[in-house]
Amino acid sequence: MKFSLGAGRWWLWSALCVLLLLLLGALVFLARAYEDSRLTEQLEQTATDLVAEIRASLNHNVQALQALHSSRPDQARWQQASTALLLDNREVLRIEWRDPQLQIRLAQASPFLPNLFDQLPRSQFQPDVRQACANARRFNGPAYSTSYFLPQQEGRGQELLEMCLQLPDDEGYLVLTYGLSNLLAERVGRDAQGSLSVALTESDGTRLAIAGRLTHRQDTLRAVQLFELPGSAYTLRLEQAREFADGRPKALSSTLALLALALAGVLALLAYDVRKRLRTEARLAEALAFRKAMEDSLQTGLRARDMKGRITYVNPAFCQLVGLPPERLIGTSNPAPYWPPDRVEEYLQRQPVNQTGKPQPRQGFEAEYIRPDGTRLPLLVVEAPLIDAQGRQTGWMSAALDLSAQRKIEEQSRASQERLAATARLAMAGELASLISHELNQPLAAISSYANGSLNLLQEADRDCQALRPDLEEAMRRIASQAERAGRVIKSVSDLVRRRERERSAVAPQALFDGIAPLVQLQARKAGIEVRWQVEPGCPPAWCDATMVEQVLLNLVRNGLQAMPTGDPPASSGLRTLQLRAAPAPAETSGGRPWIAFTVTDHGHGLSDQIARQLFTPFFTTKSEGMGLGLSLCRTVVEQHGGALDYLSGSPRGTVFRFTLPAAL
Ligand code: ADP
Repeated sequence: MKFSLGAGRWWLWSALCVLLLLLLGALVFLARAYEDSRLTEQLEQTATDLVAEIRASLNHNVQALQALHSSRPDQARWQQASTALLLDNREVLRIEWRDPQLQIRLAQASPFLPNLFDQLPRSQFQPDVRQACANARRFNGPAYSTSYFLPQQEGRGQELLEMCLQLPDDEGYLVLTYGLSNLLAERVGRDAQGSLSVALTESDGTRLAIAGRLTHRQDTLRAVQLFELPGSAYTLRLEQAREFADGRPKALSSTLALLALALAGVLALLAYDVRKRLRTEARLAEALAFRKAMEDSLQTGLRARDMKGRITYVNPAFCQLVGLPPERLIGTSNPAPYWPPDRVEEYLQRQPVNQTGKPQPRQGFEAEYIRPDGTRLPLLVVEAPLIDAQGRQTGWMSAALDLSAQRKIEEQSRASQERLAATARLAMAGELASLISHELNQPLAAISSYANGSLNLLQEADRDCQALRPDLEEAMRRIASQAERAGRVIKSVSDLVRRRERERSAVAPQALFDGIAPLVQLQARKAGIEVRWQVEPGCPPAWCDATMVEQVLLNLVRNGLQAMPTGDPPASSGLRTLQLRAAPAPAETSGGRPWIAFTVTDHGHGLSDQIARQLFTPFFTTKSEGMGLGLSLCRTVVEQHGGALDYLSGSPRGTVFRFTLPAAL
């Protein structure tokens, strides 16, 4: 498709070029033809002028001779006048005064060509003279013979023409011999040499004389003019080289030729430009196809929105995530069709449209979308401003990452961790119990057997009590010693628990919070609960066993979260929050150390009186999977640190658990 479009365009371009070139060619041709016709007209005018000039010159000679004879000249004057005429007119080669029988009376040859009739005698051409003079008599005016060729030395020769004029009073005739070449040469100026050629031809085209010569004959203009003389007729042919035809540059055709060249240049530039454009278009199309393939193959959902929050673009991954086709998404505004109805308020609040001016968090925020089939999908949404080529913001671009797989893994790991912890706790309790029972078994069995033995002795009352006394005393001593041993066993177990005393250190409350934050966030997110952490400014570090205290905090937080199952309290109430707070408790001191109070506040179902009464009883639980050891262990740990754990009812609902720890000095 792309190729055929390009080819189609090239055809159009080629057609345009060809048409333009044809048009320009036609224009140049027409301009040249117009110029040619104009120049030919000029040449024809030159030919006409030339004929008129020659005729005028011939007439002038006739008049000069008539004037000479009107004064009946003597021989000397006649010769003087004719010599002057010969000097003035190079084309006249000879002047003769002949008697009525046409015999030469006087003759004067041109000083430029004195030996004209050396090769052939003059009498040879008597018939031509006779013919001319017969005509002169007939016309009663000057008449001309037909031209004839006079050979001369070295193989040269020239065409001559006789003119005869009858003199009045039977004085005979005047005969002028004209050299045709000279006649023409005198009229064709020197400056026209090389550019103009003038030829006299007979009517059948035989060339008689020529003046001027064209240096090259390829490109010439021609003009033909009839040259009639009384008694003979010739044709004057003019040829002129085109480039010399007009002194001025051929403005029209040159301009047109220049225009054509410029046009061809512009066309070439345009063609180059079009080629460049086509190449850029092809590159752009490739880049677009590449981008589309990339977007289609992405697992991340992409969505673009304009400044009003309307969706302008979604990629296939986004459609797949929300389970809606693009046509049901594009153009929709807030609330989006995939928002869960119970979170619309919350989502509207954090829309970038409502957050103008505030920078969007680069790490994104978590959201939950609902599909048309009702399934909910946890997502991480990252928003970024959409900037156009002019640097203006035109909307927002969001990337949505499906977190369900990650959530599943986290949930599985949390559940297995919890199971592990419960098993560990059970195992520890069981181990402790078996240890105690094993250790206590012996002293208790001994106490029991001494007591039984003593009883048996006492039952034998009839015997002398005094005699029994040492035995009974011994039994009592042994009972006491076994009881002491049992006490030592108990003490050693409690020492085992107290052993951790050594591991206490100064721990910042924030460090305690940070230690449990990942696990807490994980559970809270699952329940849709927001956890708020707060360390009062100036709160000192606590002197404690960090691991144990973290365990306490974790227990209290988990109880709080479990007291707030999904929907209780509802999300719209704004109470699905749990707060952990650490603050100095200056009123209370222990050994000069100030105290720090930790509180865990939930908005759960709270504690009924019945539960409250047994809260710290080991193995008391209301949960199917609970062990009922959490709170009692917490109290033990807190008390081991010298602090106290208590609780009160929360406001407007829920429970606040509070414990104290000594501050580090
Ligand atoms: P377990 O959590 O294993 O049940 P605990 O000793 O931690 O054991 O808790 C005992 C009982 O106290 C729980 O089963 C629950 O009924 C109640 N309880 C503890 N904390 C809370 C709380 N924040 N809100 C409501 N009830 C609580």
